[in-house]
Amino acid sequence: MTGLNSTRRCVLCNEVSGQHALSTLLSIPLPVHRVLIEDEDFLVLRDICPLIPGHYLLISREHLCSFGDLPATKHKTFSQFKLYAADMIGRRFARPILFEHGSRIGSMAAGACVEHAHIHLIPVSGAPVTLWMEEFGDVKTCTDPAAPSSVVSSEDYLFYEDDQGVGSIVLNPSPRVPHQFIRRQMGQHLDIPDWNWKTVFRLPDSAPLSSGRGPDSGNENDRRS
Ligand SMILES: [Zn+2]
Ligand SMILES: [Zn+2]
Repeated sequence: MTGLNSTRRCVLCNEVSGQHALSTLLSIPLPVHRVLIEDEDFLVLRDICPLIPGHYLLISREHLCSFGDLPATKHKTFSQFKLYAADMIGRRFARPILFEHGSRIGSMAAGACVEHAHIHLIPVSGAPVTLWMEEFGDVKTCTDPAAPSSVVSSEDYLFYEDDQGVGSIVLNPSPRVPHQFIRRQMGQHLDIPDWNWKTVFRLPDSAPLSSGRGPDSGNENDRRS
């Protein structure tokens, strides 16, 4: 698989820089207002393949593997930006839940789809996300508004924040989290049982993303065993 991992090839760095290579590759017409909000450190982008309207991604401008790698000096602005993003989506759609497959460099044991920090925000209610997470270890409540950045050191993690702003985290998830686990579970919760980004976009099998990984994509070859 070619490296979507390095900064130079990272699809989210590419989006941040305004080149939109992935959108172009997939022939997705870019929405006029794809960027919901941004500041010098973070952006909220409309998900390139949303599960439902109002599905956004909060990403770092800097190429970090996950928000666990965010420097402590940025924790406060991160917590403010995260809250502001949830408020914005809440006003336009419904109060979102947030989650991150927090994989760390080299391990990717938390099921992230790309090695660039991104939190999914989805205006959905009633999804039993903490129950799903229990499969991978103790689910701890975290009340710090700068979570997950402030509550992890070097571990992989699964992070979830409900629509009331209550955070939950599993550190060092075990067994290894399947690729896109929470997102896939969410697809099932939303009655999209066989959600597959190639089907959604009718992407020919010969398309150059041969790894089957795009940001926020499902991968039919990567089901849980
Ligand atoms: Zn990147
Ligand atoms: Zn993702």
